[in-house]
Amino acid sequence: MTEETDIKPLQFHEMELDDRILKAIAKLGWQQPTVIQEKVIPLVLEGKDVLVRARTGSGKTAAFLLPVIQKILILKQSALQQETKALILAPSRELCHQICGVIKDLTIKCSREIRYVDISLPVDLSVQKPLLVEKPDIVVGTPGRTLQHIKAENLNFKKSLDFVVIDEADLVFSFGYEEEMKELIHHFPKIYQAILASATLSEDVKNLKMSILRNPVSVKLEEPELAPSTQLTHYHLNAEEMDKATILYTLLKLHLIRGKTIIFVNTVDKCYKIKLFLEQFGIRTCVLNSELPATIRCHSVNQYNQGMYDIIIASDEYALEKPSSLSNQDKNKKTKRRKDKESGVSRGIDFQHVANIINFDFPLDVQSYIHRAGRTARGNSQGSVLSFVSMKEIPLREKVEKKLKNDESESSFFKSYQFKLEEVESFRYRAKDAWRAVTRIAVREARLKEIKQEIFNCQKLKSYFEDNPNDLQVLRHDKCLHTVKIQQHLADVPEYIVPPTLKSLANITKKGKKREWRKMSESSNSKFQMKKSNPLLSMQFEGFNKKKKKN
Ligand code: AMP
Repeated sequence: MTEETDIKPLQFHEMELDDRILKAIAKLGWQQPTVIQEKVIPLVLEGKDVLVRARTGSGKTAAFLLPVIQKILILKQSALQQETKALILAPSRELCHQICGVIKDLTIKCSREIRYVDISLPVDLSVQKPLLVEKPDIVVGTPGRTLQHIKAENLNFKKSLDFVVIDEADLVFSFGYEEEMKELIHHFPKIYQAILASATLSEDVKNLKMSILRNPVSVKLEEPELAPSTQLTHYHLNAEEMDKATILYTLLKLHLIRGKTIIFVNTVDKCYKIKLFLEQFGIRTCVLNSELPATIRCHSVNQYNQGMYDIIIASDEYALEKPSSLSNQDKNKKTKRRKDKESGVSRGIDFQHVANIINFDFPLDVQSYIHRAGRTARGNSQGSVLSFVSMKEIPLREKVEKKLKNDESESSFFKSYQFKLEEVESFRYRAKDAWRAVTRIAVREARLKEIKQEIFNCQKLKSYFEDNPNDLQVLRHDKCLHTVKIQQHLADVPEYIVPPTLKSLANITKKGKKREWRKMSESSNSKFQMKKSNPLLSMQFEGFNKKKKKN
């Protein structure tokens, strides 16, 4: 064996990071650096220019932010005056917003020392000018907005700038920022340290690399297609459609699934069928439908990331894909997208903190399975995939198993998920009624209604954000569609229908049973969001997962 296998991964406290940063990392619950962080942080601290080849989900944002923040803290000890030290460029408003979220978290213990401004927000330049006059330590923006501020003389990087970071550099070009990028470079000082992060290395990115990086070190993350089994557990459960619906309802209603969940189906109609089905039990969900405007999809994901809701139903695992995977036809439409390039893009924005993937319909090919499963167990976190498999879908499951099983000696890729349907007979009756109530007409109406509603929202969103740039909470996307009659009693779970083995797990007490259930049912899952371990493993009652405890 090579010596390398004995080398222990570098820990955060061994990276010579400021105590305040280490405390912030501890507060986030990050136990150790991700692979990309372990490599990139020391290089940036050494003063190297770095090209980071990694995708969203690898922990790359903190990989460049941590050393930049560290270096700014050191520079500030001897600084004579307040100056903007770092510029972070990203291709969309949503990404800038995400980056600022990470800066906020990482500087929580030194928020007085490190100040940052997000200039990507769609407000008049003059509104942001006062913020820039104060020379925040870090400026985060899209290339377009940054250039506008430079031209308006609100920003001048020539003298003070020490760090330039370009995140998702390939998307910067896909979104049509080529010209702005070229022009921006002329406004950078002669000497600065640069970091370029990009999932792919297109010709454009190579050119950019030549113009802004000096003797760069390239760090490429050789990623396995899926997170390892220590992080991501794959379950399967054989069930036909009606039973799938019953199980889903039971798991969600009794809060046996903890943390954020994405439910995948194979058609848009099925998305709405499930939404309307769950709606009858008072379970709110949000549909991510590729027919809806990209701004809406982005906004939905943002709200999901911010914890406004916990369940998304998606029909198309590519609905939030990156442009590198767009068809040529789509690429030719690039100019059209330029119109609203700062917001009209869902690409590069990503689901965060997803604990569970539920394949209500089994994906049609192996790539799709990988893609769906890849939405969870990001960074170093834990995740689970639970696939419902009908008789017809068994060959699809076998294909996935054959492709993804690491070696022949491994008994099986999927763990069997134990669920005793006979223990939840009453849930089945209710589920049957509710499932039947969702007719084709109800689904069609719901689709139309939502498109109308969301397009209307889109207008509202636009004008609202112009007035309230910091408020992303205004419109929820998990509202009831009401194309199926809601029977109020279905939202309750009377105690007598809950199997005894589940009562303690779901916190049923003798006092005020029904009322408590009601409250619990109506509240969101978010109290469970901070799950520490595999969320599906946390279910431990006899009917389920007898075997799982051993795993
Ligand atoms: P990113 O690739 O930067 O978008 O990060 C993906 C996710 O990983 C984010 O939700 C981060 O909060 C999370 N993350 C980043 N670094 C770590 C770490 N060292 N340990 C655990 N989670 C992390």
